[in-house]
Amino acid sequence: MKMLGLPLLLLLALLLAGCSGVASVSAALFGDPGTVSSQEGALTAEATEEPPSSAAPANVVPPSPTPVQAPATPVPTPKPGTVTAAPILMYHYIRELPPNTTDHLGYGLSIAPKLFEDELAYLAGAGYTSVSMEDLVSHITRGTPLPPKPIVLTFDDGYSDFYMAAWPLLKKYGFGATAYLVVDFLGKPGYLSWQQTQELRDSGIEIGAHTLDHVDLAIQGLPQARRQIFDSRQILQQRLNAPVNTFAYPSGRYTTSTVKLVGEAGFSSAVTTAFGERHTTANLLTLARIRVSGGISMLNFIKNLAG
Ligand SMILES: [Zn+2]
Repeated sequence: MKMLGLPLLLLLALLLAGCSGVASVSAALFGDPGTVSSQEGALTAEATEEPPSSAAPANVVPPSPTPVQAPATPVPTPKPGTVTAAPILMYHYIRELPPNTTDHLGYGLSIAPKLFEDELAYLAGAGYTSVSMEDLVSHITRGTPLPPKPIVLTFDDGYSDFYMAAWPLLKKYGFGATAYLVVDFLGKPGYLSWQQTQELRDSGIEIGAHTLDHVDLAIQGLPQARRQIFDSRQILQQRLNAPVNTFAYPSGRYTTSTVKLVGEAGFSSAVTTAFGERHTTANLLTLARIRVSGGISMLNFIKNLAG
C-alpha cells in the first residue's frame, strides 16, 4: 500500500488535470509490459511520420518542447564536372565608328557607347550582377556562393576607350569588369597608360594578362610562349602591386602546351574566344566566352546571353 502511494497520487493528479492518456499512463506506471513494448514498437516504426508527442509515455512528464533545428547549410564543394552557367561577355573597343568605315576588323570589334549603355541597362534591368573571374573561379572550385544571374564583363587589349567610354558607364550601372592587358602596348597611343591602369585596378577593375605583345601563342616556340605568358603576369603584378590571376589567349589561339604553361605560370583561369557560358573545373584554363560583336542587335545580344 505504501509503495503504491506515489503512483496513485500521480494518477489522481493527472486525472484532475484532464489528461486523456489514462490507459497509457496506467500501463506505464503499473507495469503492463505488453502495452508499453507495443507502443515503443509503434513509436520506432512511425518516428519519421508522426510527431512523438502523441506517444503515451510523454504524457507522464510534461513534454518540454525541443526546438527543431534545421541543420546548418554547409558551403557545398562542387564535384568535378559540376557545370556553372555564367556568361563571360567579351568586348574590345567601346567607340563610335563612321557608318561607312572600311575597317571591317575594327568594326567587328567595336560597340558604340550608346549601344553599350543599352546593353548595360538591359543587364541591370534583367537582374544580372557582375562578378570577377576570381569570383567565378572561387565558385567553380570551392563552391563560394555567387549572386543570382552572375555575369563577367571582359574587355580585351587595353584600349584607352575602356577608361574614357566604358568605365564611366560601368560605374553608372554598378558593374565591375575584367580588363585583359597587353603589357608592351600600355602607354602607346590608343592604349591605356600605366597610370590609368593603376587607377582602374585601385577602383576594383580586375586586371588580367593578354601576353607581352599580342602574339599568336599557337605558333610560338615553347621558350617564346613561356616568356609571353610568365613575364606578362610578373610585370603586371610588379607594376600594379596586385595579384594577376587570369589570362586571355590573343585571338583565342593556343595549344595544349600553351594551356600547360598558363597553369604553370600560376594563372587560375584563362579565357578563349570559343562560344559558350557553361564552365567546369575541367576547363578553367580554356573558358568559353560570349563575343559581343560590332553591330549586334539587342535581340541577338539577349539571345546570346543564354549561351
Ligand atoms: Zn586581344
